[in-house]
Amino acid sequence: MTKRSFKRILLKIGGESMLGKRNFGIDPNAAQNVAKNIKSIYAKNTQIAIVIGGGNIFRGVAGAKAGIDRATADYMGMLATVMNGLALQDAIEKMGVPTRLQSALDMPAVAESFIRRRAIRHMEKGRVIILVAGTGVPYVTTDTGASLHALELGCDVLMKATKVNGIFDKDPIKYPKARRYKTINFKDAIILDEVQVMDTTALAMSSENNMPIMIFKLFEKDNLQKAVMGEDIGTYVGNDVKTILTKE
Ligand code: UDP
Repeated sequence: MTKRSFKRILLKIGGESMLGKRNFGIDPNAAQNVAKNIKSIYAKNTQIAIVIGGGNIFRGVAGAKAGIDRATADYMGMLATVMNGLALQDAIEKMGVPTRLQSALDMPAVAESFIRRRAIRHMEKGRVIILVAGTGVPYVTTDTGASLHALELGCDVLMKATKVNGIFDKDPIKYPKARRYKTINFKDAIILDEVQVMDTTALAMSSENNMPIMIFKLFEKDNLQKAVMGEDIGTYVGNDVKTILTKE
């Protein structure tokens, strides 16, 4: 794999990154931590689109299990992502970085509607765009929304920030000797049991349209900067690589 650097990225941030030490909801300090990371790459002239999830507040699947109609529960999940987006926008702008919030569900009082060409223009003008409400339709997750947006916005890569630094052959939290996949070919990513960090719809769509995915830990010093510079952190999933496990 040659070293890559990326000019326009789509960063998918799970709702859990807004939790901080809480079990539920939004910790403003956690939002600030995310914002600090964004600022560190903003200074490097990277065009940034962010898709934020809502799992820290509400997930459609959980709502459906508890007896709410699945589609209704999914719309509730989408609304959860709007709250996270507002918190993140506030935190990023407090660091002096201009942003625009765009929503796949129309909500003119709080966010612009998602308009592809407008979103691209914002990035060209140096605004970080935060995309909320996923795809705007139920039965999918924000990972799928991230994959779709990365494609339509012409991003070079889809970056998924997670709790651990990439994809491992075993759970690295339980098994300290777990080995990290340096690279994974999309064909393997779709069938490997270990690859649970991203849903299959998102993987399949990214693979079909040749959108590489990088998976790494956001809250690790300089990781996002390193990812943008194409350094060997986390796991790179692509059509152009073999599946390779590190020795560590
Ligand atoms: N959701 C949806 N359509 C979308 C994106 C999200 O229905 O295009 C709903 C779905 O119920 C999902 C919830 O919003 O569970 C929150 O998003 P997600 O679970 O992806 O958040 P994350 O795991 O990234 O925090």
